[in-house]
Amino acid sequence: MATCLVTGGAGFLGSHLCDELLRRGNRVVCVDNFETGSMANIHHLRMPEFRFFHADIIEPYFVDEPVDFVYHFASPASPIDYLRLPLQTLKVGSHGTHNTLGLAKQHRARFLLASTSEVYGDPQVHPQPESYWGHVNPIGPRGVYDEAKRYAEALTMAYHRQQGVDTGIIRIFNTYGPRMRPHDGRAIPTFLRQALQHRPLTVFGDGSQTRSFCYVSDLIDGIIRLAESGYHFPINVGNPDEYTLLQLAEAVIEATDSRSELVFEALPADDPQIRQPDIGLANEVLGWFPQVSLQAGLERTLRESGIEKLLGA
Ligand code: NAD
Repeated sequence: MATCLVTGGAGFLGSHLCDELLRRGNRVVCVDNFETGSMANIHHLRMPEFRFFHADIIEPYFVDEPVDFVYHFASPASPIDYLRLPLQTLKVGSHGTHNTLGLAKQHRARFLLASTSEVYGDPQVHPQPESYWGHVNPIGPRGVYDEAKRYAEALTMAYHRQQGVDTGIIRIFNTYGPRMRPHDGRAIPTFLRQALQHRPLTVFGDGSQTRSFCYVSDLIDGIIRLAESGYHFPINVGNPDEYTLLQLAEAVIEATDSRSELVFEALPADDPQIRQPDIGLANEVLGWFPQVSLQAGLERTLRESGIEKLLGA
């Protein structure tokens, strides 16, 4: 049985990762400060193989048992959160990643960084391969998140090259599923909440900007495959099916059988116009390919969340 440390384990992705690691027979140590996560995401994990401790990883922290894998997921992730928490976001990417890499070094554990497609910024290359260095505005409002993740990637490679830590970097593209917070500002939970209430869906800009949406179970499978591989360089994991925001809104209206109409609002600063992962590397190195279509994933999100949770009731 391997012991896995999951930082940010009470968040959306972290809690699904804890579930799957436990299901596969691992022991899980989850660290979180509930800044954007919640006890509700992990309260079903009452078993001896699961241990939670409350800590802010920006401060040095320790784990008093052997650890084999470190999944570093703690960070504000939604624009609403990182715009509210700009300094914490920078610190969790720098101090938090430094502390967690130090812990992986001390335990001789394999370390996996949850990075993001946002390291590509508003991309000038489409779809985005890992070899693309990106087009990020460092001083715009989103810079606190994008640059924190770029710094965390640089730190991870330095610990690998200079300190010999066994590291991997996963560049996660937009992922959705049950346990997303209805008011976290991301497109899918917002559209689902509005559609279920038959209220207008708020589309930013003219809705022609594109995104690629990965269902959470596909993402978790890719993450665990990467942890179990010996791969050290960044790797994209996301669903390459690309939709405009208008197409997404229509898909949500159809999935919820809603009478909602669309309203258009101003585009946020530095909102990327296009987003689509090139997943050739994930396919080649990990044998990974997403299985869940947008329509199937929306239906699963509706079924597994329940309407009350999607409404935030
Ligand atoms: P989330 O906000 O649901 O989860 C983040 C978790 O980290 C929360 O439980 C939060 O309380 C915890 N946390 C934040 N700061 C902390 C600190 N200082 N100390 C301890 N815990 C702290 O977000 P998510 O969507 O689950 O994202 C998880 C990770 O995946 C993040 O690193 C994010 O950047 C990355 N990511 C997510 C997506 C996506 O589509 N969901 C896309 C790209 C990257």
